[in-house]
Amino acid sequence: MRLWEMLFVKATVAEVQRAGRFRRVRLQAEALRNAEWRPGQQVRIDVGAPGALAPLLRTYSVWDRDGDTIELQGLVHGDGPGARWMGEAEAGQAVLISKPKGDFVTRPAGYHLFVGEETASVAFGAMLRGLPEAERAASRAVVEIAGPEDKLALGGDVTWVERGGESAAASEGLVDAVRTLALPDEPGQAYVAGEARTVQAVKQHLIRDRGWPRKAVLTKPFWTPGKRGME
Ligand SMILES: Cc1cc2nc3c(=O)[nH]c(=O)nc-3n(C[C@H](O)[C@H](O)[C@H](O)COP(=O)(O)OP(=O)(O)OC[C@H]3O[C@@H](n4cnc5c(N)ncnc54)[C@H](O)[C@@H]3O)c2cc1C
Repeated sequence: MRLWEMLFVKATVAEVQRAGRFRRVRLQAEALRNAEWRPGQQVRIDVGAPGALAPLLRTYSVWDRDGDTIELQGLVHGDGPGARWMGEAEAGQAVLISKPKGDFVTRPAGYHLFVGEETASVAFGAMLRGLPEAERAASRAVVEIAGPEDKLALGGDVTWVERGGESAAASEGLVDAVRTLALPDEPGQAYVAGEARTVQAVKQHLIRDRGWPRKAVLTKPFWTPGKRGME
């Protein structure tokens, strides 16, 4: 066994379900049973060829967790190794993954605002489910998708913004949708994730135009054009 392999958990693909461009992939490993997971956290998975000299890591949010099994929702787009792995995953396949980690998790707040595109909506679904009922009911989400087939069952109050064939990078549609959103006068806590430039634009809007304090806007860039495997 190579040294880096000892840092990972050996998991088995238990099931793969297709829904639009998403692949809902269930990964099972005894070592996951006692692993800590907070909704919004992510795992890194080795999407490289089995037996390769070094891992090829891509990051995916944990959509749900049940005992020794975690569920991911991988978007199939382009021909990067992560998207390819998601598109080709089959039950019975072995894969190395890290345990869940990360600080993109909900914080105590009067209300919560989630903003991002398809890939970010995976984390949002888990975070919304993890909130107490009353907080979930008071939450708002604005999610940009290519089309209706990319809608995940998020629960809560979601404004879906369809961009059609436009790029999700530096998306003005998402910022505009947040701009026209009716929100309470007081700032809440925002979670903004997805394409890096869009994330920055939404953050700027909340801070500059709405006067939200910086610490009330938690951001997490997931990807950006020309960059491979962010984080
Ligand atoms: C904390 C975190 C959590 C994440 N959670 C999820 C998740 O739950 N589900 C999920 O599907 N993704 C998630 N992502 C995003 C995912 O890791 C990236 O999309 C990753 O780049 C995919 O790897 P790849 O090998 O397919 O493409 P890469 O080799 O990394 O990139 C190749 C090209 O594809 C472009 N690209 C990458 N992602 C996208 C995209 N979504 N749409 C259009 N073009 C893209 C890149 O800009 C680059 O030009 C998460 C990322 C982070 C950092």
